[in-house]
Amino acid sequence: MKTGIIAQPRNQWLLLGVLAIAAFTTLISKKGPEPFPGREREIITRSDSVMYVTVMPEDSAILRTPSADLTPEELASPLLRELMAKMLRTVQDPSQDGIGIAAPQVGINKRIIWLQRLDQEGEPWRCYLNMHIDSLFGPQIVAAEGCLSLPTLRGNVVRDSSVIVSFINPETMTPSRDTIHGYTARLFQHEIDHLEGIVYADRSDSLFISDSWADSRRPYSYSRPSWWPR
Ligand SMILES: [Zn+2]
Repeated sequence: MKTGIIAQPRNQWLLLGVLAIAAFTTLISKKGPEPFPGREREIITRSDSVMYVTVMPEDSAILRTPSADLTPEELASPLLRELMAKMLRTVQDPSQDGIGIAAPQVGINKRIIWLQRLDQEGEPWRCYLNMHIDSLFGPQIVAAEGCLSLPTLRGNVVRDSSVIVSFINPETMTPSRDTIHGYTARLFQHEIDHLEGIVYADRSDSLFISDSWADSRRPYSYSRPSWWPR
């Protein structure tokens, strides 16, 4: 004996309709991965406007991890805007007084940098998302560098004088490219190194403790907040 439903023509249409609605509902409810999961979300939402800056060697697990591109969900997330605003306030705060910062320096392994365009009129601050180096060229130049994540140290680094970068412009959210020369090209290379898990000290054979840097940073505390997830 067989059991089952023998579909009548009217029931067939009803069944097709139900299946179509189910498929459509599944389609529109399908979401990508959650933006900034886990500890990254906690850091973004719990940080004050001035974030804790990661330092070597205590936070080397983060500073040595290559960073990932932002997902489409992260690019569209209000959390990205909150992170961008907090990163800018952090690098501009008198306790840091930097000219560039990369997301791993606030505990987020995503390809986001802020830097001051010293080569442009008014030296504006610019943010770059999903930042990558396309090519390096020009003569190599030696100059001293410092880093918020290596407080008190300075050291000479050899770098190419020009760089071509590709990124997403956070104002237009469009893919863009730029060619940068001179000291600002060095700044780009320094910040993009952070996205690869590299710090300038890896490239320097002349590290030294800078008393003037140490003096300027001494008034500030570098302690990690008790809630900060490692
Ligand atoms: Zn740095």
